[in-house]
Amino acid sequence: MIKSGDVISHTQLCAEEDSMLQRGMNFHLKSAYSVILMSVRPGAPYVDQVQEDGKVLIYEGHDLPKTRGVGDVKKKDQPMFTKTGKLTENGKFFEAAHKAKKSGNHAELVKVYEKIKSGIWVYNGVFKLMDAWLEKVGRREVFKFRLEIAQEEFDLENHEVPDLDHTRLIPSPVKLAVWKRDGGKCTKCQSSDNLHYDHVLPFAKGGTSLLAENIQLLCARHNLQKSDSIE
Ligand SMILES: [Zn+2]
Repeated sequence: MIKSGDVISHTQLCAEEDSMLQRGMNFHLKSAYSVILMSVRPGAPYVDQVQEDGKVLIYEGHDLPKTRGVGDVKKKDQPMFTKTGKLTENGKFFEAAHKAKKSGNHAELVKVYEKIKSGIWVYNGVFKLMDAWLEKVGRREVFKFRLEIAQEEFDLENHEVPDLDHTRLIPSPVKLAVWKRDGGKCTKCQSSDNLHYDHVLPFAKGGTSLLAENIQLLCARHNLQKSDSIE
């Protein structure tokens, strides 16, 4: 079973979700939840932000599709509707956030995956979609979505109570720095299979998700060995 902090390939990601995922935002991919793919373009600033000690992710919506004649999509407002008047994925997530806010019903659950390098993805866990708004960035309007890590719905399949380390998001720049420092290998055995982002000092003992010094890459075997020896 996949855990937040696990490093996976795009093939594994598609197998996990049982679909060929291409788009970043996938509203109601499954009846029980939606899926978001985060990706940091090389050289681009990090627009998706991690807040509140790793519990909150502010995710930026999607630009107009790059079609002929549209010009620079980074200079255009992000769309709520398609040309034919249907809600875009921005629009669907926006509407769901506001419906849940107004009605007090359950928030939309969103599984978040993040591409850190070509072919290398990290599962960030299950989040609740809490809010959505339009923000003026430069001269255009972009969508912002507030996602909070879901604790009780953390494991959609097995209803396990997660350990605290899996309820804190590791920001993209930290993930990248750790990947580079550890050379994309387990720090104990140099294996590059089934890697996981591990908290050196667990969150419950005061460790943080926000510093590369407290995060290391471990393979599945060494990750298991470590969690067995802590309790
Ligand atoms: Zn190892």
